[in-house]
Amino acid sequence: MIRTKKQGMLVVISGPSGCGKGTIIQEFLKTHPHAWLSVSATSRPSRKGDIPGTTYYFLSRKEFEEQIQKEAFLEYAEYAGNYYGTPKDPIKEKLNQGSDVLLEIEIQGALKIKDILKETIFIFILPPSMKELRKRLEGRNTEDREKIEKRFQRAYEEINEVSKYNYVIVNDQIEKAAHKIDAILTAERLRVDRIEEVLLDTKEEDIHEKLLSQKEFPNIDIKDKIT
Ligand code: ADP
Ligand code: 5GP
Repeated sequence: MIRTKKQGMLVVISGPSGCGKGTIIQEFLKTHPHAWLSVSATSRPSRKGDIPGTTYYFLSRKEFEEQIQKEAFLEYAEYAGNYYGTPKDPIKEKLNQGSDVLLEIEIQGALKIKDILKETIFIFILPPSMKELRKRLEGRNTEDREKIEKRFQRAYEEINEVSKYNYVIVNDQIEKAAHKIDAILTAERLRVDRIEEVLLDTKEEDIHEKLLSQKEFPNIDIKDKIT
């Protein structure tokens, strides 16, 4: 039997605004209640569909800057004129409890995490096409025309950064994309460097001992083979 490390996995999910990150994460969480989506702080105004304390903690710029001074963020960045940051303490706590933690953050913040937490899994979400991205941004109906344009232009720059991520998912169908997140996490959980211990049952333990003592297998030089 294999025992994996108790520590949860940290998963960063990025992609251009409107590509569907939030939607596929919510779809993924429906079937993964033990994964935890970090709640970021932001200085942007609340918009349609936002729930304070659930989608974001809404702070003024001054309050946000005070939190920066207190080193309360694992990372933070400015995006489209507003601050966004990941509160540090809840992440540590959830990972230590063994929960997988999802961060839905933009690229500058993701790259900061890449520098400090090397085991993090980085997933980039792409829209099926730029035409579809524009349609989704407009269809969401949460930003005015000017802001949509800004986000759309920025999408071209963001897509250039895809090679800095470990995995890429095209969000054509919500369920399929959520299933791919599941597939990535399943594979990552099986990585040899996430194994804490290999546990043998009594019979297997006996065979192991005999092999090492070489009493029963005098012709096999196991130690030589291992080294
Ligand atoms: P993001 O979190 O990346 O900014 P959202 O999750 O808010 O994007 O999605 C933007 C819009 O696109 C929403 O209106 C959402 O319902 C829609 N959407 C998301 N995924 C798909 C999809 N696979 N097919 C069609 N529409 C989608
Ligand atoms: P929105 O205003 O659409 O909610 O988010 C704008 C961008 O900010 C998105 O790309 C989103 O992923 C990113 N974002 C949300 N929270 C954080 C955060 O805590 N840190 C960083 N760096 N980006 C974030």
